[in-house]
Amino acid sequence: AAKGRGRNAYQPYNRGLSERAERRNAVERALRAALDAGSFELHFQPQAWLDGRGVVRAEALLRDRGGLLAGLSPAEFIPVAEECGLIEPLGEWVLAEACRQARAWADSGLPLLPIAINLSPVQFRRGDIAERVAQALAKVGLGGEWLEIEMTESLVMRDIDSTAHTLHQLKALGVRLAIDDFGTSYSSLSSLRHLPLDRLKIDRSFVRALPGAAADAGLVQAIVDMARALGLQTVAEGVETREQHDFLRAIGCNQYQGYWLAPPCDATAFARWLDRPAKITHLVVPGGSR
Ligand code: C2E
Ligand code: MG
Ligand code: MG
Ligand code: MG
Repeated sequence: AAKGRGRNAYQPYNRGLSERAERRNAVERALRAALDAGSFELHFQPQAWLDGRGVVRAEALLRDRGGLLAGLSPAEFIPVAEECGLIEPLGEWVLAEACRQARAWADSGLPLLPIAINLSPVQFRRGDIAERVAQALAKVGLGGEWLEIEMTESLVMRDIDSTAHTLHQLKALGVRLAIDDFGTSYSSLSSLRHLPLDRLKIDRSFVRALPGAAADAGLVQAIVDMARALGLQTVAEGVETREQHDFLRAIGCNQYQGYWLAPPCDATAFARWLDRPAKITHLVVPGGSR
């Protein structure tokens, strides 16, 4: 087998390892540079009702504008930030920036358009996240209804007692809570039932092959039915086609997000996109159910 691999067969066996370490170090340097330069930016992707009631909130996704990390997905650099401690300042920046943007949209006269941010387990485990969120909201003078927090399933299910305590604190602020990438890890039904959650985001991996793949279709249907029985809403991630959209609507999924509706874009482009008449008339009014 070694013969067949040609030149690579003569490289030291741990070359892959050191290349990964090299790359990780490069990403860490780029993270520090971007934080110093202030080149991070939030992009926004809409989530909308499947029943046609329009856009319901926007998910904030981190980007490095013109920096060394430009073009790299946060899926690649967030884990590095978590490893080297930079997720603290980075996560704080995301929270503050999302609040600033929410304030700007509120001031521009938009009806309530909450922003969903992704929270790292590292930020969550510090124990003072509810306090930090409360401070960030107070700083811009907005209530918790402007913010939604997306957390992974493993974060929520790990160490359930302290998690529950923190989630109740966040909930008391009026912040909405969603489990991100639902279905990729493991959830206990009783936890889903007793935690103060609002939504499950069905992972893109289950949506990708819809509606043709019978196994995935059955799984997504089961998640939607289970969520409804638990009093939770469902949001489908990664919806790229009309067929996926129509299938999800037919099985009673509540909301969706994906390229078929709109890809993530910067705040200016997002506001322009939102400003199309068809979108604005469908916007949910403050106090409306979501
Ligand atoms: P996520 O929270 O599950 O975010 C959804 C990801 O799916 C985003 O990737 C988005 O651009 C992508 N996406 C949306 N619609 C479609 C679609 O129709 N098709 C496909 N193929 N992809 C779609 P992105 O922006 O690269 O972010 C990746 C992950 O990085 C996020 O997954 C989230 O876990 C993490 N992340 C992003 N921003 C932050 C942040 O500010 N803080 C933390 N802690 N994590 C973040
Ligand atoms: Mg997310
Ligand atoms: Mg997700
Ligand atoms: Mg996902």
